[in-house]
Amino acid sequence: MDAALKSLSYQGDAPGFDRNGLDGQGLNGMRNDDRPVNDGRPVEVAPEPVSATRVPDGIETGRPSRAEAEAAVRTLLRWAGDDPTREGLLDTPTRVTKAYEQLFGGYSVDAEKLLERVFEEVEGYSDIVLVRDIPFHSHCEHHMVPFMGLAHIAYYPTRGVVGLSKLARVVDTFARRLQTQETMTAQIADVIESILKPRGVAVMVEAEHLCMAMRGVQKAGVSTITSQFRGVFKDNANEQVRFLTLVRGGAK
Ligand SMILES: [Zn+2]
Repeated sequence: MDAALKSLSYQGDAPGFDRNGLDGQGLNGMRNDDRPVNDGRPVEVAPEPVSATRVPDGIETGRPSRAEAEAAVRTLLRWAGDDPTREGLLDTPTRVTKAYEQLFGGYSVDAEKLLERVFEEVEGYSDIVLVRDIPFHSHCEHHMVPFMGLAHIAYYPTRGVVGLSKLARVVDTFARRLQTQETMTAQIADVIESILKPRGVAVMVEAEHLCMAMRGVQKAGVSTITSQFRGVFKDNANEQVRFLTLVRGGAK
């Protein structure tokens, strides 16, 4: 086992770690109701099921104003340890909120609409259509740190083909939202499946996550590969091999 992996595995509590004391404090600190803190019964530690998760009190939902968004950037600048009133940072909140409009522009695009127009006059073409090496930039929903890489998409058309640039725009639409690479891969496959109704769709995404390279385990150059196979790609292993061979540059 190499050092990086070792440092990831749980080594037990450090000497002197007072689990009971800490758990108690943590729970009290996280409470946002006014039940008595300790009435002598054992402290409840079971986490709530995900389905019970609610927005904690005091967290607003819905879209803020631009001024509120800029104020939030100033808060984060102070949190990072800098002074938002120094000259170099004065216009940063304006620039960041503007950049967000582009980086997260996928929220205002309807991916289904992108695929609605198909070209039906394709002389009965029904073999594989593969678009590979579609570059994308995204942000992980866990850290809001970029991950970027390439997406490869293949489908077997039934009722016509879409413009090739539309597939790239579908990738962009989901990339410019917060999610995980796994979710993004499935979202791309889902929308192609539901709108184009192909005989099969295959999506592969390979990406480098800066949240892994810059923080946490700090490993650069690691690429994460995710894939989704639907229809004939799911049912027939030969179709997966054909897809992977084409993606990897065979039979150009
Ligand atoms: Zn992350």
